[in-house]
Amino acid sequence: MTATFTVLTTGYDSLDTRNAHRDGKEKPWHVASTVSLLCDGDTIVVVDPGMVEDRKLILDPLATAGISPEEVTDVVFSHHHPDHTLNAALFPHARAHDVWAAYHNNLWYDRPADGYQLSPSIRLLETPGHTPQDISTVAETTEGTVVLTHAWWSVHGPAEDPTSDDHEGLRASRRKILALKPALVVPGHGDPFVPDENTPV
Ligand SMILES: [Zn+2]
Ligand SMILES: [Zn+2]
Repeated sequence: MTATFTVLTTGYDSLDTRNAHRDGKEKPWHVASTVSLLCDGDTIVVVDPGMVEDRKLILDPLATAGISPEEVTDVVFSHHHPDHTLNAALFPHARAHDVWAAYHNNLWYDRPADGYQLSPSIRLLETPGHTPQDISTVAETTEGTVVLTHAWWSVHGPAEDPTSDDHEGLRASRRKILALKPALVVPGHGDPFVPDENTPV
């Protein structure tokens, strides 16, 4: 059995032109996460339920996919920035997963993230670089391997992550992801893209 992959909402980030002349104080940034849905049998995963202009941008596409918020079994945080976590509580029954552990109600399950299987076709991969706590979600689909990751902000780069202080680590993580020969990369703040020789490493 393989997983299915659906983008619920496409993110954007502070590097977009819409943020020209915004200083983050008087003029706030516009930021939204790319939020995705993975289904593998009984496992229903929302990846990076973070900042969006309106929660409807997550919930309406989920309803279109025929899934209620109560049916979501798992939520994955690619890392611990609020733009990727803010709306986790939309899914009252979901376990949450990050680099350290899985969390469900008041239970904290320590485990290594690398290779952790959420389901037969969905697993986690440690990919530090944007922050030291980054994980990517790897899904085997009928179209090939899909990797959901903040190792890239979008298909447009930037090649050097402006918020990272570990550029070598990020390059190593990008190589680790590309070694999986993904059919599709789902970046933190943009549309899914097919990696090619122009994909920055
Ligand atoms: Zn971040
Ligand atoms: Zn981000």
